[in-house]
Amino acid sequence: MSIDFKKFSGTGMTSDSSREKLILILKGEGIKNSKVLRSMQLIPRHIFVDEAISSKAYDNTALPIGKSQTISHPMIVAKMTEIIMAYEPRRVLEIGTGSGYQASILSLLVDKVYTIERIEYLHNKSKKIFQKIGIKNIYSKYADGNTGWPQKAPFDAIIITAGATHIPDVLLDQLSSNNGILVSPIESNGKQYLKSIVKSQDKYNEKIHGKVNFVPLLGGVS
Ligand code: SAH
Repeated sequence: MSIDFKKFSGTGMTSDSSREKLILILKGEGIKNSKVLRSMQLIPRHIFVDEAISSKAYDNTALPIGKSQTISHPMIVAKMTEIIMAYEPRRVLEIGTGSGYQASILSLLVDKVYTIERIEYLHNKSKKIFQKIGIKNIYSKYADGNTGWPQKAPFDAIIITAGATHIPDVLLDQLSSNNGILVSPIESNGKQYLKSIVKSQDKYNEKIHGKVNFVPLLGGVS
């Protein structure tokens, strides 16, 4: 899906100077994909956080979203999005909806975003935001994301936005074997690294992209 700027007209946010500043920071830190930068300029991050901290929404930092969870650092959202967009995915699965910010950024770049959240409060809250800003191509589910969404597989890309100790095999099974890409924070020796895995037929090509700091990927629902 191409970016439809008209969809967000009337919010007055495209000229927001703090968002412009954030985009400059992201560029300075090495984000090059212009579509990713435009999507981050268009999606109003402040509506995904509580009003009391909305003045910090365009700072390059993670912020609390309730239930001990966080909306990811904008640089990490940009980086993970840029990594998967290099493979031009059309159908993306996200594990860990959280605030819904990452899913919204993706919604302007791909045809369909499927997203799973294990905390009912966050699932409901993010769903309301998608409706409020008029995003129609995000399909969200309240469930344990460790089992993926087999009915909607295969996915061109899978993005896990919580720290996993290992990538569940079922998620790799649900990845397209035609250059499907999965990106996830992975815990190892008490540290977290961003890892990508590209699946081509039955071969997996892995790459590490540097250190990250995500809340953990848990099991079950809450
Ligand atoms: N992508 C989010 C940030 C994610 S924070 C955003 O843009 O705001 C990580 C989220 O993953 C939390 O909301 C947490 O509840 C969720 N999570 C952790 N383990 C999970 C699991 N097994 N299945 C689904 N969601 C999970």
